[in-house]
Amino acid sequence: MTELKSIAVYCGSNSGLHEEYAHQAYMLGMFLAGQGTGIICGGGKVGLMNCVADGALDNGGEVTGVIPGFLNRTELAHEGLTQMIVVATMHERKYRMSLMSQAFIALPGGYGTMDELFEIVTWAQLGLHRKPVGLLNTNGFFNPLLDFIATMTKEGFLKEEHRDMLLVSDNVPELYELLKGYQPVATGKWI
Ligand code: AMP
Repeated sequence: MTELKSIAVYCGSNSGLHEEYAHQAYMLGMFLAGQGTGIICGGGKVGLMNCVADGALDNGGEVTGVIPGFLNRTELAHEGLTQMIVVATMHERKYRMSLMSQAFIALPGGYGTMDELFEIVTWAQLGLHRKPVGLLNTNGFFNPLLDFIATMTKEGFLKEEHRDMLLVSDNVPELYELLKGYQPVATGKWI
């Protein structure tokens, strides 16, 4: 079992059209606070990012934001976080977030979230880290993506063992257990 001291949460800077997105994001923050697991996030006070952070902070949890200087403005940055680390670039942000976390969870989001998700799972595929990556499939949001990932596998662009690196659940405690119990693939893509 992996000890999950901190989890990086990637999620939308919008809240989505259904209330369930914001609700489950808040519940994730609350749940992680209850587990004593810190949250590493992008540091924004917008969209689902804000909901996850508030869910944790309202319930005694710790949230660290890693924000690039150009986004560190009062109307965008969450001022109530436990700690805010200001970095120079988006690349530095993603790298710092990856080093500070024992696992990663993606929630529904747009381009930014998908960029973060696919970068971190690509690094896992290459054997650059061995940490678990989870999808919180609120409202079946990721089902079309999972279908596309099935196509990648069927068409010979993705190995089954790399497909299976993504841990998926629509239930927060269940996803947390999947992350804790993850057994990393032993080797990188070419080894
Ligand atoms: P998206 O999924 O396209 O909404 O983008 C979400 C990602 O955009 C976040 O994970 C951040 O990398 C970035 N982002 C957008 N707005 C902000 C903000 N106000 N503060 C921090 N990061 C932000």
